[in-house]
Order: sequence, then C-alpha cells, then structure tokens
Amino acid sequence: MAGKIIIDTERCKGCGLCITVCPKKSIVISEISNRNGYFPAQADNSNCTGCGACAIICPEAIIEVLRDDSDNVEIIIEPREDSEQNLIGEKA
Ligand code: SF4
Ligand code: SF4
Repeated sequence: MAGKIIIDTERCKGCGLCITVCPKKSIVISEISNRNGYFPAQADNSNCTGCGACAIICPEAIIEVLRDDSDNVEIIIEPREDSEQNLIGEKA
C-alpha cells in the first residue's frame, strides 16, 4: 500500500523527530529555510507506506498522512491549527 505525507513546511521547527521514526527514510531536512528561519522537514514520498509514525510524533501536528489503496485515497491523520493531533482512523 502506498502512502503519502504532506508537511506544512512553514510551520515546521526542523526538530527532525519525524525523520528519526520514519522506517522508510522518506523524510529529509530541506536545505532552504522557511519564513521563520527553520530548515523544515521535506517529504520524499517514494517509499512512504502511510504508517503515520511521523505525524504521531510531530510536536507541531503539521503532517497529513494519506494512504492510497488502489482506487481510494484515505486521509489517516490530518494536521491541525492547534497543537493537538486529529487521528481520523486507521484500517488494517
Ligand atoms: S507515514 Fe510512515 S513511511 Fe510515510 S513518511 Fe511518515 S513515517 Fe515515513
Ligand atoms: S517532527 Fe514536525 S516539527 Fe519536527 S521536523 Fe518533523 S515536521 Fe517538522
């Protein structure tokens, strides 16, 4: 099953936690800083499975996780404006 993440790079603090937990090494740190001066995480979705680990650990709750199951694209975790995460659900 293919996955995909979308990172709100302008709100990223560049802490790197998402990178440490990604089992597929699908996230890197950008060489270009955002408007707040942080070097944000950047998605490389080529190997992403949509496991959600990066979104769960992100202290800023700014990662959206999607899974592509044949014809269906399912949002697993949505980013939020505040610091709380919104776990939509997970299917086996
Ligand atoms: S959803 Fe899982 S595989 Fe995809 S980038 Fe996040 S931690 Fe890595
Ligand atoms: S865990 Fe969140 S804040 Fe930290 S680098 Fe990753 S996306 Fe940015």
